[in-house]
Amino acid sequence: MIQITGVKKIYDLGRAKVHALDGVDLRIYENDYVAIMGPSGSGKSTLMNMLGCLDTPSEGQYYFGGEDVAKMDDDSLADIRNRRIGFVFQSFNLLPRATILRNVELPLVYAGLAKKERAERAQHALEQVGLGDRIEHRPNELSGGQRQRVAIARALVTEPSIILADEPTGNLDSKTGEEIMQLFEGLYEKGNTIILVTHEEYIAQHARRLVRLRDGLIESDTPVKR
Ligand code: ADP
Ligand code: ADP
Repeated sequence: MIQITGVKKIYDLGRAKVHALDGVDLRIYENDYVAIMGPSGSGKSTLMNMLGCLDTPSEGQYYFGGEDVAKMDDDSLADIRNRRIGFVFQSFNLLPRATILRNVELPLVYAGLAKKERAERAQHALEQVGLGDRIEHRPNELSGGQRQRVAIARALVTEPSIILADEPTGNLDSKTGEEIMQLFEGLYEKGNTIILVTHEEYIAQHARRLVRLRDGLIESDTPVKR
């Protein structure tokens, strides 16, 4: 479903060049569940941005669903970012003044859906994360875990097959983090592909596969023992 080969990302800082990714080969399969770990600066965010088509490689190939991403036009790229991949971030990235329903509807506004269908689908996504009764609340009226569940509903509302999550439990206490991981487990069981970055070994243990990065290279790629 995703195949990257020899991918490098090089930042030219004048006197120095930073190899954020230094030749990464990675295949992600349908209904894969991958945790990416590695020290700070090892290239995790760069890799996630690449996978999400938010950034382009300096070298190497990226095939998404068999198609060369470098040859895609803007519409196909937008389709991947807006419909086929759902993004979840550590910092939730919700609009503070908008209601929960409005926050979750937003990707559907970009997708051009009519108001009624947007509201129905956003309501459904919020029910999936257990927040169907909070749609008129605003983010600051919710706990951290609830805000992250809103962010997950927003990621799900376009019915993407792939969820990319960058430290989704990073701002949560461990109990709340576990609840979020249960949500991901449910999505995985429903057939979604999940790729998440984490610093916590116990979070990574929820995945089925663990990829460790070091200095822009894959150091290991192993099944998770359970
Ligand atoms: P991680 O997410 O594992 O902490 P990153 O992917 O954020 O690592 O960064 C990998 C390396 O690339 C680091 O050395 C970082 O400083 C560098 N880097 C990331 N983004 C930029 C940028 N926009 N300009 C220059 N260097 C960058
Ligand atoms: P971090 O993992 O460094 O705490 P985030 O998880 O919030 O940061 O974001 C990870 C990366 O994704 C950053 O490089 C950020 O610029 C980018 N990003 C954050 N939010 C969005 C968004 N809504 N759309 C596109 N890119 C985003």
